[in-house]
Amino acid sequence: MTVEKPPLINPYDNLPSFDLAEPKAYSPSEREELLRRYYPDYRPDRKTTLHVGANAGDVLPDEIASILESRSILSKNVLPAVPSTPDIEVDLLVIGGGGAGIMASIFAMEAGARVLLATKLRVGDSNTVMAEGGIQVALGEDDSPVQHFKDAYRGGHFTGDPELLSVLVREGPDVISWLIRKGVLFDRDPSGNLSLRKGGGTTRPRLISAKDYTGLEIVRVLKEDLLNSGVTIWEFSPAVELLQGPEGSCAGAILKDVDNGSLKWVKANAVLLATGGTGRLHIGDFATSNHFGATGDGLVMAYRMGAKLLNMESFQYHPTGVIYPSEMAGMLITEAVRGAGARMFNRHGKRFVQELETRDVVASAIIRECEEGRGVRTPSGHHGVYLDLTAIDREMGEGTVERRFPNIVKLMGKHQVDCTKQPILVYPTLHYQNGGIASDTSGRTHVKGLYVAGEASGGVHGKNRLMGNSLLEVFVYGRRVGEEAAREALERKPFSWHEVNLGHVEGFQKNLEKEFPGTSRPEAPILFPDYRKHSHPDHA
Ligand SMILES: Cc1cc2nc3c(=O)[nH]c(=O)nc-3n(C[C@H](O)[C@H](O)[C@H](O)COP(=O)(O)OP(=O)(O)OC[C@H]3O[C@@H](n4cnc5c(N)ncnc54)[C@H](O)[C@@H]3O)c2cc1C
Repeated sequence: MTVEKPPLINPYDNLPSFDLAEPKAYSPSEREELLRRYYPDYRPDRKTTLHVGANAGDVLPDEIASILESRSILSKNVLPAVPSTPDIEVDLLVIGGGGAGIMASIFAMEAGARVLLATKLRVGDSNTVMAEGGIQVALGEDDSPVQHFKDAYRGGHFTGDPELLSVLVREGPDVISWLIRKGVLFDRDPSGNLSLRKGGGTTRPRLISAKDYTGLEIVRVLKEDLLNSGVTIWEFSPAVELLQGPEGSCAGAILKDVDNGSLKWVKANAVLLATGGTGRLHIGDFATSNHFGATGDGLVMAYRMGAKLLNMESFQYHPTGVIYPSEMAGMLITEAVRGAGARMFNRHGKRFVQELETRDVVASAIIRECEEGRGVRTPSGHHGVYLDLTAIDREMGEGTVERRFPNIVKLMGKHQVDCTKQPILVYPTLHYQNGGIASDTSGRTHVKGLYVAGEASGGVHGKNRLMGNSLLEVFVYGRRVGEEAAREALERKPFSWHEVNLGHVEGFQKNLEKEFPGTSRPEAPILFPDYRKHSHPDHA
């Protein structure tokens, strides 16, 4: 079979001249129409109705439905027998070594619990460490948690959980002070005050950052604190199944040693899921900004146990993921560049959306330009629009891009794109799971003894998250849920290892057989994406 290669087009040949005229603001009904027509969440194709589990009846992206309605990876037919003793016994098992998991472990340990932190790769290998743009927190003189609440609630199209959101904005300032006391170096202005910047969809400058490597700076400090905290850490040990205790409660988990494939059985009074998001499922074949381990494992394990999920039809496609060169497909260009004055242009050199609209609106406008033939075609046949950072240096002084966004300049430079002089070609990238496991303000799920924090949880942001609110959630709820789970773990009535079982997995698999007789089901959690069978060549 011969495959016709798309013609090689260098998007930097024949650059149009850029017309800086500002596009008009959309009316509320124009925004709604744009989202309805172009935002991937609203498209009816590639969706599946769930038949099994607490969310039966929900219509979700195929990739999410497939991992939820799946069989255990432990065995096709017979699940392993519970051994006579566990490999380790702790008060709290924290699953996931990103921002939420690290924060929760530190605070649970301080609350007096014996804590095991088990993570898939190394501690810190996560979306948190990749966060670029910053954290929103109401610290400005003309700002307040109430104003922050209003912006975030409106930005989420009034679909967020007001109680969860209210905790986020109220506890934000205190948790940021804690991070600063621990040694996190956020950017400051010449007078030594924290630099506050504006993100999309906000009415006040409220974003604090550490250049364009905010997550890395925070994890640098937190990791040191964790290593000195006394928490037991098991790396390269992904959780593959939760364990059930008395009355359907959660009683621990099974971990898999990545090196030799052996299983480790953990007995725990409480389990906290901090497993992050699902970008590596490449929903709708989108490229992703997410780290390699973002495969939705926490959702799968919790769902089998009876936990309810919320808003799992809703994802954030960040407007500005790199689309060329294709080796970089999906890499994020932080929204902070647009906050600083970067502009977007279609292939005719026209601006087509106000750059600081909410992310879903900007992403939809880019998709519209590309689908209506005003995008730029790349050598691999994809389309994108120009994101031009040179306006930042023009408006704020030569060298600003390099000073404020050194990481982006360096990474693009490695691929021969000098973004201080040339535009970057971008297209929306699958970035964030808006929904997740439902919980209350202490991270309690519908399953006794099972807690959730961070991106794996749903509800705070509703169906659209504003920039910087996820990191805030990770640290506010990491601390809060870590403390609460530790307290409840210490108070839990003792139970014996003989009461521990995998009955929930067996029951779930029986229900699958009833609903899908004679058909084989996929296996999950998938742990690592398998690019050998992926349909999209750029995603590898
Ligand atoms: C490129 C990028 C830039 C971003 N920039 C910003 C920003 O500027 N501001 C902002 O607010 N938000 C930003 N975000 C979003 C934010 O960083 C994340 O939502 C947040 O950090 C998630 O934290 P988390 O601890 O919940 O998950 P993660 O940080 O992803 O951590 C999850 C951890 O769980 C582990 N894990 C997964 N499955 C298992 C398993 N089965 N067993 C054991 N461990 C497991 C993972 O390996 C990982 O260590 C960005 C995200 C990305 C990808």
